[in-house]
Amino acid sequence: MKYSGRTIADFALTVDGRDHPTSRTFDVINPATGQLLTTAPALDPSELDVVFGAAQQAFEQWKQDDAYRRQRLLEAADAIDAAAEDLVGILTAEQGKPLDKSQIEISSASMYLRYYADLDLPREVIKDDHEGYEEILHRPLGVVAAIAPWNFPITLAMWKIAPALRAGNTMVLKPSPYTPLSTLALGSVLRDILPPGVLNVISGPDPLGAQMVGHPVPRKVSFTGSTATGKKVAAAAADDLKRLTLELGGNDPAIVLDDIDIGKVAEQLFWSAFENTGQICLAVKRVYAHESVHAELVDALAEIAQSVKVDDGTVAGAQLGPINNAPQLDRVTSLVEDARQRGARIVAGGGSLDRPGYFFAPTIIDRVEDGVRIVDEEQFGPVLPVVAFRDELDAVRRANDSTYGLTASVWSGDPNRAARIGLELDTGQVSINSHGRGVRPHLPFGGRKWSGIGTENGIWGLRGFTEMQVITGPRRVS
Ligand code: NAD
Repeated sequence: MKYSGRTIADFALTVDGRDHPTSRTFDVINPATGQLLTTAPALDPSELDVVFGAAQQAFEQWKQDDAYRRQRLLEAADAIDAAAEDLVGILTAEQGKPLDKSQIEISSASMYLRYYADLDLPREVIKDDHEGYEEILHRPLGVVAAIAPWNFPITLAMWKIAPALRAGNTMVLKPSPYTPLSTLALGSVLRDILPPGVLNVISGPDPLGAQMVGHPVPRKVSFTGSTATGKKVAAAAADDLKRLTLELGGNDPAIVLDDIDIGKVAEQLFWSAFENTGQICLAVKRVYAHESVHAELVDALAEIAQSVKVDDGTVAGAQLGPINNAPQLDRVTSLVEDARQRGARIVAGGGSLDRPGYFFAPTIIDRVEDGVRIVDEEQFGPVLPVVAFRDELDAVRRANDSTYGLTASVWSGDPNRAARIGLELDTGQVSINSHGRGVRPHLPFGGRKWSGIGTENGIWGLRGFTEMQVITGPRRVS
């Protein structure tokens, strides 16, 4: 498909509305083969001044006209829909997920743009009478540095782009070096719609992300990624008190009560853990199942795990693709090995598939307890430990005994009972008889404890890209 006389797959940086040539490149691997997919342009860090300068200059005009911004966001959504076929193919090639899942991811990008284009951000009038007026305005911050991970490159970038631009900010966006291509292609598509400098898309190996955070121009850093990196971002941003949103890791518990019909929920529970090959911040990462239903649940999950079609995302019927990258495959492998050595029973899967690429068999782990790494740490892969419990309060205590606090779920034949237990969970969201149901454009999403700082989505996500300004004055003369 052609954009401004170039093809979407040229994978150039977008800076100030144009291609920004680079002298260096870096390799992008196809996770389904383990082989080189292509190379991507690497920004020379010394050029960050040019990139942030373009964003800063564009801010002066972009911040002025709310109606104009809303219109551009709607047009951006249409442009993404028009380019969806290309974007879907690129996303699957670099990330590994099946094509139908990439399609959902690209569609969600235009959905978020339309949602924020339609959302009002009214000034709040506190007082307006014969004595005078008091108003609160939500003003854009300026330039935002946005940094995204490799599991949902487009969705998670769009959680930043749509509200930040809608509020009147401009942006420099950097995807993960594992998945730069779809985001670079997105930059190419949107440069025809947005004024130059409003959305700049750069790529390159680390430490480019750290150098963005350390740059003096951005007034806010919006970061999605691991907790370890998030802490570094927070420390670096502290130097000049940049505003921060951190969406970090999770170790989401699902608590399955004794009154549940396992036959009815096993499939849903399975996919809540394994969708996107388990590489979702809010995937179910540990199950606490009441001892009366535990064995039945383990068997049901194992049966599903063994029936799932794991394949190259471009193959028709593939339900799960590979793990995205070699270090992550190594990490998942070592967590499973550790559990095995600690006496756990591997009921399904347990290792890599015997084929090229980073494929790992969907794995269900039984006879495992808190204190084993696969339960305590974030696996971020296609592996699920199922822990038995006797006492409900103890299950809640164990679920909360984590440095993470992203989301959680409680599963019961009595939704009211489950909701009462849900209130005890120390997480940003709790779902009853489902997991992650609260991930919608209009609902606040954010983690407690080490799962993050700040909120994305909804009006709260929009306000996160603003600062309040109070205006007071004498009685208005009309
Ligand atoms: P990561 O922290 O390794 O990398 C994330 C991004 O940060 C990449 O673009 C990387 O290049 C960049 N980066 C690396 N070092 C940096 C530094 N010092 N300063 C600034 N940027 C730096 O994370 P990942 O492996 O790409 O993603 C997986 C993690 O992301 C998991 O822990 C997952 O739970 C988390 N995640 C969280 C959410 C959420 O919304 N809470 C969503 C998706 C993923």
